[in-house]
Amino acid sequence: MPHQVSGRYRALAETKFDLVVIGGGIIGCGIARDAALRGLRVALFEKEDFCSGTSSRSTRLIHGGLRYLEQFDIGLVRQDLRERERLLATAPHRVTPLRFLVPLYNRSAVYRARLRAGMILYDLLSYDKSLPNHRFLSRNEAVELEPGLAQEGLQGAASYYDAQCAFVERLCLDNVTDAVENGAQVYNYTSVTGLHREGNHVAGLSVRDTLTGETTEVIAEQVVNASGPWLDQLTGSLTGQSGSLLRLTKGVHFAAPRAVNHALVLFSNKDGRLFFVIPWLGLSLVGTTDTDYTADMDAVWAIGDDVRYLQAGVEPALPCADWKQIYYTSAGVRALVRSDHPNARESEVSRKHLLRAHTSEEGWEGLFSVLGGKLTAYRGIAEETVAAVVRQLYRSRMAPQQTSGGLYDSGPARVCTTGTRPLPGGDFAGGDFSGGNINGMEALRTEVRRHASVLNLTETQADNLTTLYGTRAARVLQLVRARPELGQPIAPPYPDIRAEITYAVQHEWVQTVSDFMVRRSLLGFTPDQGRSATRAVAHEMGHLLCWDAERIANEQDSYRAYIELTQRFRRED
Ligand SMILES: Cc1cc2nc3c(=O)[nH]c(=O)nc-3n(C[C@H](O)[C@H](O)[C@H](O)COP(=O)(O)OP(=O)(O)OC[C@H]3O[C@@H](n4cnc5c(N)ncnc54)[C@H](O)[C@@H]3O)c2cc1C
Repeated sequence: MPHQVSGRYRALAETKFDLVVIGGGIIGCGIARDAALRGLRVALFEKEDFCSGTSSRSTRLIHGGLRYLEQFDIGLVRQDLRERERLLATAPHRVTPLRFLVPLYNRSAVYRARLRAGMILYDLLSYDKSLPNHRFLSRNEAVELEPGLAQEGLQGAASYYDAQCAFVERLCLDNVTDAVENGAQVYNYTSVTGLHREGNHVAGLSVRDTLTGETTEVIAEQVVNASGPWLDQLTGSLTGQSGSLLRLTKGVHFAAPRAVNHALVLFSNKDGRLFFVIPWLGLSLVGTTDTDYTADMDAVWAIGDDVRYLQAGVEPALPCADWKQIYYTSAGVRALVRSDHPNARESEVSRKHLLRAHTSEEGWEGLFSVLGGKLTAYRGIAEETVAAVVRQLYRSRMAPQQTSGGLYDSGPARVCTTGTRPLPGGDFAGGDFSGGNINGMEALRTEVRRHASVLNLTETQADNLTTLYGTRAARVLQLVRARPELGQPIAPPYPDIRAEITYAVQHEWVQTVSDFMVRRSLLGFTPDQGRSATRAVAHEMGHLLCWDAERIANEQDSYRAYIELTQRFRRED
């Protein structure tokens, strides 16, 4: 251990961690939160920003996955439906019900009977849900709900409910926030570059600041590798053990003008694959593709063929919408647990996760790897992982030669509380507006509007704060109350106000302009990707973070480079 550690890493040198988590995607953030709530000394390292990997490229559905029933993944579907219900209850500001329609075109009686059986099973597996059961709709009912649907050959539609997390980036941040408020140390822009051991047991790590190059060492008893699709590559570089536990597939979406009132389940006319058209932030999110991927994980983009595949699928079902107008794309890499069936189609590989405890025989006792796992399942995966870590800590501390620690001697009970504990911003009963009788998102919206109007903010600005922060909008309003100039818009006509940048700098680990544009605010998801706000954001952040003119310019260039990646598919047309 170096004795002189400067800057942001100083606190690391003073702690011997029970657990270090590698990777600040949804699964790593969930693990850090769960561990902190159980009283473990935990640190989380993310090489870029929290939720900048696969978690931000998903379809943003919290769902059991009707189609996984076809693969007889009954256990997975049941587990995910239970998680859906838990997230609806504990993160009501992030996870909201979403109605789906499956339009039926020229389908045989056998097909419709199979679909009906699947729907009944889906309802049975979510018998304890708060969402409505499925229904079959007549042709007229379907057209009334979705007037844009092609009508030739339309027989009707099946209707069912799942849930949507429109801003997964902030769901990650809510987990990070709760982790830190319960004692965790978290570091974005910090890459884990080395793993150390004493004998056959993990003993610590080397980390490097990916913005400044600063390095330091960390002492840790247990390490969880939650690096998603980077796992095989990282395991190889950290342990020297090569292996290919994952099958990586690329998934692409595009954002287009809003064309639907409900989520639609459609089937590609090229290969019959299922894909979605989702109403999302006032736009349509169309996706996804599913193709094997072996290229650079740090630069994934949609190619022209990906976009054309989705366009060809959606055009016949919604012929009146303009599918030539695409605002931007997103592309991410799924980490699927490699199956015994290498010839299986990408979409047929199970979405089940696997927790792997590395062993003393391998030379890496105390190291755990999380393979695969859906966004929907993240909380349950975190619970399972931290339970395994606690068992391992307990075992190693019960060993006669170990006297330090005393995991069960003191501190809070080591039981998982995340199944019922509200995430920050979702605590309607005991949160920042607890005096205001908040019993749902509508009531919260009304309350935020009431407080915001006193500060001369518009309803649109107030609603944006509710979407971004849930009950914690009260804390941003408090900044405006103390300094009214922070109520000014960042760049009209976007609804965002300057206080959001101050709050992000003070409380949300924001380090770059891109972090703010697409992971703290929704500016980057508007049709023009917030282009005309970039300069104002860079200057405001520069002022708060003491950037010089060169850094302010570089930050704007980096954001433009991000936009370029989402637009690259056009170059091949
Ligand atoms: C196109 C697509 C659509 C999807 N749709 C859905 C959906 O609708 N619903 C659903 O439930 N699931 C969905 N999924 C699956 C879901 O998005 C992922 O399973 C989930 O986000 C994985 O989270 P993660 O934390 O494991 O990975 P990631 O989010 O990728 O996080 C891993 C993190 O590790 C970091 N990292 C890597 N190496 C290091 C290092 N050396 N040091 C520090 N940090 C490191 C990375 O930067 C990254 O941020 C979808 C996936 C894709 C690709």
